[in-house]
Amino acid sequence: MTGWLLRYDGWDPGAEALRESLCALGNGRFVTRAAAPECRAGGGHYPGTYAAGVFDRLADDIDGHRLENESIVNLPDWQSLTFRIEDGPWLDLSALTVSDYVQELDLRRGVLTRRFRIEDEQGRRTRVAQRRLVSMSDPCLAALECTLAAENWSGRLTVRSGLDGRVTNDGVARYRGLDGRHLATAGASVDGDVLTLDVETSQSRIRIGLAARHRVRADGFAHQGDVVPVVERGFAAVDLALVLEPGQPITVEKLAALYTSRDRGIGEPGEAARDEIERAGDFDDVLARHELAWDHLWVRCDVEIDGPVRAALILRLHVFHLLQTVSPHSIDLDVGIPARGLHGEAYRGHVFWDEMFVLPFLNLRLPEVARAMLLYRWRRLPQARAGARAAGHRGAMFPWQSGSTGREESQTMHLNPRSGRWLPDNSHLQRHIGLAVAYNTWRYYEATGDIDFLTWYGAELILSIATFWGDVATYDSAEDRFDICGVMGPDEYHDGLPSRDRPGLDDNAYTNVMAAWTLTRALECLEVLPPGRRHELLDFLDIRRSDLERWQHVSRKLRLCWRDGVLLQFRGYDDLEEFDWPGYRQRYGDISRLDRILEAEGDSTNRYKLSKQADVLMLFQLLPADELYDVLDRLGYPHDRRTIPRTVAYYLGRTSHGSTLSKVVHSWVLARADRRKAWDYFLEALESDIADVQGGTTGEGIHLGAMAGTVDLLQRGFTGLETRGDVLGFDPFLPDALGSMRFRLRYRRHTEVEVVIGAQTLTVGGTASRSAVLPVRVRDKEFRFDPRGSLEVPLRRRGAD
Ligand code: BGC
Repeated sequence: MTGWLLRYDGWDPGAEALRESLCALGNGRFVTRAAAPECRAGGGHYPGTYAAGVFDRLADDIDGHRLENESIVNLPDWQSLTFRIEDGPWLDLSALTVSDYVQELDLRRGVLTRRFRIEDEQGRRTRVAQRRLVSMSDPCLAALECTLAAENWSGRLTVRSGLDGRVTNDGVARYRGLDGRHLATAGASVDGDVLTLDVETSQSRIRIGLAARHRVRADGFAHQGDVVPVVERGFAAVDLALVLEPGQPITVEKLAALYTSRDRGIGEPGEAARDEIERAGDFDDVLARHELAWDHLWVRCDVEIDGPVRAALILRLHVFHLLQTVSPHSIDLDVGIPARGLHGEAYRGHVFWDEMFVLPFLNLRLPEVARAMLLYRWRRLPQARAGARAAGHRGAMFPWQSGSTGREESQTMHLNPRSGRWLPDNSHLQRHIGLAVAYNTWRYYEATGDIDFLTWYGAELILSIATFWGDVATYDSAEDRFDICGVMGPDEYHDGLPSRDRPGLDDNAYTNVMAAWTLTRALECLEVLPPGRRHELLDFLDIRRSDLERWQHVSRKLRLCWRDGVLLQFRGYDDLEEFDWPGYRQRYGDISRLDRILEAEGDSTNRYKLSKQADVLMLFQLLPADELYDVLDRLGYPHDRRTIPRTVAYYLGRTSHGSTLSKVVHSWVLARADRRKAWDYFLEALESDIADVQGGTTGEGIHLGAMAGTVDLLQRGFTGLETRGDVLGFDPFLPDALGSMRFRLRYRRHTEVEVVIGAQTLTVGGTASRSAVLPVRVRDKEFRFDPRGSLEVPLRRRGAD
């Protein structure tokens, strides 16, 4: 393991699902899992290719309920490539003696290699080396190169390379009872060494065209051999006949292109794919362009630490997968940020609130990409308005899970694999998703100063969302407080009160604080807008003076519940029972999924003071202390210096971390008060995917929020980086294990700001010598960074914990 290389030694079919996700290759437009090219789905292998925004909807009947699910579609396998010696069986590693097996993902270059030696029953030894990429430079192109060398035999070897459309959505065990057949083949053909395959999704009618071309090289020269077409239903392939001699390796190159009818600037997808492979050059040309594109991305996006080698590598792995899921190629696509990347079928490729963990990174590195992600939400405002109307409210109510159209895609029933029961799923009551959209919009504006975006798109989002919350809050005149009722907070282990039949909670602290914050920002946003546009928007959105007065009122009077100076998660929380943490730990070991454990026991998480993940504590990540205290002051709730630490301490021991997001938040909220614990949580959060801490979920897709969240912890959490006003603020609090860190930012008009933070000094530099002077605040001192030089600020060591 080096700072750039993720390496696995040995062939382990049981670990393949995990490696397929962690070594997946992509470019923000499509991602392909790192499945062994010779394998079809089954026996631990799952070839999967997913293009951003390519969804399809299917319906099933479960226990008399009609369930509709929209899913990201598993597209034809372009990697499919196998071989056989003479007329023997096709390559099957489980039937051969495999040695020297190495799989390496080079994060710097975006190249996956696989090398191994096989020996068959006749003692014939063959060496195999494969390189793969999904081009970061040509967003519809992928390539696979396979070099074969006979060690102690000579004879005929046939390579079969195909485009395999006989795939279904079958990657997640608990969805297997549901229909996963999304694709119909429209055509498969072979012309010389060129393959084409056209498929169409069943309901969304998206056409996908693939083409592949081959080149065979021996001794560096083109090699001519027999090429035999193989066309079956949903499968187009060629058999390439090679003659191997010991010491004379032969290389097969395969270039594949994938277009969909959602792509712009093309005629028909199949034709576009054929054109692309014609003009792409050979493997090395494609590789050179791809490496250059990654090189440029890393200059902008790398986070370098002087700290534990494993942590440094994992951080890069996280940035790598973030950029493979959303990249500059996503800008033109009308897509959101799927919670599980484009790396598998978990959560069906849906978009949740997890973008809250991803956008802070993009805001400061690739703000155009962040903007595109917000536009995905803006385009779905009509659906969000329809959602609010259907719930009897004004404004915009965004869905907890969003797919192609922005309608609610949350499932209405879910399966508890422990009990085998299908249960009602109330997670759609997480109305706080809209608050995340407003928050992300405002933070984007703060980081970029992009007033044009705010004027033409962002303000409409924020005002429409504020209208919803202003409308949803109900007034309790007896106590002169507003309540928000019938919602779920981020903690999904509480979807109702034990004493009540109907789902939903009242006055979830997270929701109410963020609603108060959003209403206040909406009022501020009106101040910032050019007057003409302000009037247009108020007219268009039918927001009247009385509404603005109500926003003022609600944002000052939303109810929060307290006990002994601790902010309570919701009204009624105090009446719940304490949970027997040691007892359950002893009985079950891993108790992260207490919802499943308790339901299987006939009990319910709703009865206890426990959380799946940070809920109240999430507030302390999203809002710096002064901003949070402003909200509390505005709401008229007293607080003191201990309010935050007391509340953190209260929930620390009552959280099961059933979501990978949870440890990121816990690390963040402890970053100042308890650096050692913060670092431990950080390390645990880093392990979420690479060590598959949830025992099997990473194989179904990465956890993008946790991946990006760990990077953001470094970038903003441990540095105290703030982007309010024109000033770039820092308040570093590096954990002891971190000697220093270095990264590059774009902040407003300052396109290349380089930050190095060590134990003793903070340095701001950059190469954009012609940009303006940047005001920098380090702790409570103001400085001016003149981009013609660099700014070095000594850091006084602050109280150790
Ligand atoms: C978490 C949510 C998250 C979702 C998608 C769930 O397990 O509880 O907060 O949005 O996963 O990552």
